[in-house]
Amino acid sequence: MYDITIIGAGITGSLIAYYLSEYDFKVLVLEKENDVANGATGANSAMVHSGHDPKPGTLKCKYNLLGNAMYPKLCEDLKVSYKVIGAFVAATSLEEEKKLDELVKQCIDRNVPYELLSGDEAKKLEPNLADDVSKVLSLPSTGIVTPWEVTIAALEEAMLNGVELKLNYEVKSIEKKDDCFLINNDIKTKIIVNCAGVHCDDITNLLRVSPYKTEARKGEYYVLDHLNDTFVSRVIYPVPTIKGKGVLAVPTIHGNILLGPNSDYIEDKDDASTNKGLDFIKKEINKTVKNIPFNKMIHTFAGLRPHIDLNDFYIQEDDEIKNFIHVAGIESPGISAAPAIAKDVVEKILLNKFDYKKKDNYVHREAFIRMDEISDEKKDELIKNNPDFGKIICRCEKISKGQIIDVINRKCGATTIKGVKLRCRPGMGRCQGGFCEPEVLKILAQQLNKDVSEIELNVKDSKILLAKAKEDL
Ligand SMILES: Cc1cc2nc3c(=O)[nH]c(=O)nc-3n(C[C@H](O)[C@H](O)[C@H](O)COP(=O)(O)OP(=O)(O)OC[C@H]3O[C@@H](n4cnc5c(N)ncnc54)[C@H](O)[C@@H]3O)c2cc1C
Repeated sequence: MYDITIIGAGITGSLIAYYLSEYDFKVLVLEKENDVANGATGANSAMVHSGHDPKPGTLKCKYNLLGNAMYPKLCEDLKVSYKVIGAFVAATSLEEEKKLDELVKQCIDRNVPYELLSGDEAKKLEPNLADDVSKVLSLPSTGIVTPWEVTIAALEEAMLNGVELKLNYEVKSIEKKDDCFLINNDIKTKIIVNCAGVHCDDITNLLRVSPYKTEARKGEYYVLDHLNDTFVSRVIYPVPTIKGKGVLAVPTIHGNILLGPNSDYIEDKDDASTNKGLDFIKKEINKTVKNIPFNKMIHTFAGLRPHIDLNDFYIQEDDEIKNFIHVAGIESPGISAAPAIAKDVVEKILLNKFDYKKKDNYVHREAFIRMDEISDEKKDELIKNNPDFGKIICRCEKISKGQIIDVINRKCGATTIKGVKLRCRPGMGRCQGGFCEPEVLKILAQQLNKDVSEIELNVKDSKILLAKAKEDL
């Protein structure tokens, strides 16, 4: 019997598991996909918002502000990158300038650092702001992070400390039996924490009529390659509207630029295909930035926001079913808020339910090896000890065989091509895996002791990829 079962291995479920792993509970995480962070956490703007924007008095506002303050220490502890790069909210009309004044009031009330700049002052700092930009709200505490790296690191550390993870495990039935729950007629647990993103209402409906309805709101993006010249060095937001924060230009941790997202409700809650939103983005992005290097576009993707009809996060124990905890409606600013949500769920809800003890033998994870982040001396030493670190597999991102083997042979390690890509980036560059994926596939097969045809591909042109990998065997 498990003490606590978390449904969903996105950033919220994984950080809850991470904070729980300090204590002597038996914890299980269930995920329907073949890897963690495959829902909203794997496809978003990857920003830690300052907290200037959510409506006052909402949980979104509270947890965004707390989360922004927690990120530097969390990322240091998890050994993943976090950068505070700041953001500009760019107004292009008198009406929008008035809206900036309202945002300034919110910044003052919330202690969010800010500065108001004239269009000319702002353009000196960001020369690619559009000519029409007349006034700018600068938000220096805005950060960027790679949300799936936080999620993978949090689960890796949780698993090093005893948390169990079951992938490819879709929760399809839940029965309440006396003092516990029975999941899929298979797993017994005292407590369920529902972190199932767009499927939170479906999970709740397995037990009772859900008090909220979850919808998917799609956001699409263009990804630009690393650029020699800086296009923008901060996040550039337009002035927000009732539809949300609008179409942004966002530098990423690994040096790419994201342009997007749009915001469209869709019927199929799992349809993360890209389509008409991209045209909208091309049109809208011109309002705030110019000289956009679309010739450096290497990829497009879409993410699905888990929106609920209560218009705020819904984080509480169920009113009718004891020990069933909702962590629902975690749409934007969910990445920013996730550490604070997770800590509160653990400390204010879950710890109250047990006599508990902190573990005295807590283990920390080691950082992934990043060849581009270490000195030449360290690189030489690494290659001398293990020549695989000198064998470059991904030429675009300069990823070695040693790095790929490292991310496979860990707790919460990669088992798919996409899993390797998310952890150490082969396939993220200009060729989008055209050259390196057959090699990655062979390394996966060798390390997992499988045939290449047994590895889940989940990539376009999988037949060609398999043929290329087999050709070289
Ligand atoms: C376009 C877009 C842009 C965004 N930009 C930002 C941003 O810049 N900053 C920010 O703070 N936030 C942003 N967000 C919001 C943020 O991405 C989400 O709030 C966050 O990722 C939600 O994490 P989660 O763990 O709650 O959900 P998810 O990441 O969706 O995880 C839910 C998990 O539950 C699993 N699951 C579902 N049903 C079952 C089942 N039956 N059995 C087992 N597992 C199941 C899913 O497979 C999934 O892995 C954005 C979101 C989108 C879509």
